[in-house]
Amino acid sequence: EFRKVYPHTDVMNEVLHGKFGLQNYRPNQEEIINASLEQHDCFVLMPTGGGKSLCYQLPAVLTPGVTVVISPLRALISDQVDKLNALDIPSAHMCADVKKSEIDVIMAKLAQMEPGIKLLYLTPEKIVASRNTCDMLQGLHKRGKLARFVIDEVHCLSQWGHDFRPDYKQLSCLRRNYPKVPIMCLTATATKLVQEDVLNILNIRNVKTFIRSFNRPNIKYQVLSKTAKIVTSDIANLIKSKFHRKSGIVYCLCRNDCDTLAKDLSNFGVRAKAYHAGMSGSSREKVQREWMNDIFHVIVATIAFGMGIDKPDVRYVIHNSVPKSVEAFYQESGRAGRDGETSYSYLFYSPGDVIRLKKLIQMDRNTTKKTLEGHFENLQQMEQYCDNKIDCRRYLQLMHLGEKFDRNICLKNKATACDNCENIKNNQIMDVTKESRQLAQLVKEMATRENLTMLHIVDVYKGSKIKKIIDRRHDKHSLYGAGSHMSKNDIHRVLKDLLFKKALKDHCVLTGEFPIVYVKPGPNMQSLYSTNSKVTISVEKRTNSK
Ligand code: ADP
Repeated sequence: EFRKVYPHTDVMNEVLHGKFGLQNYRPNQEEIINASLEQHDCFVLMPTGGGKSLCYQLPAVLTPGVTVVISPLRALISDQVDKLNALDIPSAHMCADVKKSEIDVIMAKLAQMEPGIKLLYLTPEKIVASRNTCDMLQGLHKRGKLARFVIDEVHCLSQWGHDFRPDYKQLSCLRRNYPKVPIMCLTATATKLVQEDVLNILNIRNVKTFIRSFNRPNIKYQVLSKTAKIVTSDIANLIKSKFHRKSGIVYCLCRNDCDTLAKDLSNFGVRAKAYHAGMSGSSREKVQREWMNDIFHVIVATIAFGMGIDKPDVRYVIHNSVPKSVEAFYQESGRAGRDGETSYSYLFYSPGDVIRLKKLIQMDRNTTKKTLEGHFENLQQMEQYCDNKIDCRRYLQLMHLGEKFDRNICLKNKATACDNCENIKNNQIMDVTKESRQLAQLVKEMATRENLTMLHIVDVYKGSKIKKIIDRRHDKHSLYGAGSHMSKNDIHRVLKDLLFKKALKDHCVLTGEFPIVYVKPGPNMQSLYSTNSKVTISVEKRTNSK
């Protein structure tokens, strides 16, 4: 097999094996580390658990001087610093909880000709607001000991990101004050817009960008239908038969569900503990610590659990109830298999849970109408994800993260192919190029001025003789019934494809108690007609007998 050799491969491998005790690189790590050692500015987009830390920690070991890492999360900082020191890589941080005397020691080291610290972690406000820190950095810089800046969670810089932090904006001073010091940007969430915004703010001109697919090849995704009565024993049997002494997370809708399920699982012989915000801080910490240390294996939690938790060997995540969006589902299920070993995601789905979740969302009196509509829209997409028995789960998830995913990748990987790909032999490919154009046209002609739902468009195209269609004389449209050969479900999926291509857009409105999603022509409607590319969907195999 052809292998690319990089200028720094040999020394890098020494550190990889000798210092970090790792065997191989994960995808993109080797390229990124090399680019970094070549003094390039880098932009690294990698999913959570992808191994971003090594991308700057390894170069830090090999580069003379101090690598300064800017990170917003204090908990993660002290975790990282402990790990590095345990690997005999001198590291320090100066977060608020460090004693004055310790800070003096660190500062004294950093003022020496040879600082003796390889990685220094700072929160953004330190760089911005602390005179001492600025002087220290200038001192390092003058002595040529400022190796590199690393900005973790760099999407926080952009107000287009979902997690804007005003402190981060000030980091635009880095390039101005330290023009020759390379900058490495790291994030797990950044759209094209956020990327450009970030590079603009930081004033970075020639950046090497590394984008890794958000696909998690080692996770097998399955959606199972849930019937309230048997689900607890299902879960218990699943854990007992497949995950004996293996770590797992079971997510529930609310605190009560956590307590009940943890107890029920224990009754079925699976030792499980609840974790949720209703417990005292100390008992929560205790549960988390015991689970982290494998004292017990099954944690039953609300979604609050998991943020910033790095347990590499979580073998399965079970959703006992429907997640609140496809993105949330991706993140939550993604807590499994950080170590790259085969892992499992099970989603137990029942329409009843969707209704419960809707009620919970509505109970929050602080939400505005607009956020409420957003929540409902997300939930509806999640419902469609669960109902979909045909399309690749990875394809559907990654579509929401703006990534086009080729289903064949999922199909090829036998051990972790998703449930729908596993059942693909029951499917066939259907060319819907004509139908796709017709549906776009139908929306354009009927729904530009009038507010119509997707369901309504489906019914017109299918040729349904329902009252609201006859009353509005929509049965007189030339495309009425043009899709009579298709199932409503398949028509719906062609519309979804058009939505993804932005040939259509959807718009959720809250009228009364129920949210309604309307469909409208989208920005790419015109370009749809100027391309010749075929549109296909997979559909369930039809038997000839009707
Ligand atoms: P991220 O910051 O992208 O979420 P981390 O840097 O925390 O991910 O890495 C996630 C996990 O993967 C950690 O447990 C880390 O030790 C492990 N890891 C990273 N790179 C490698 C590698 N090349 N080989 C094996 N394990 C790795």
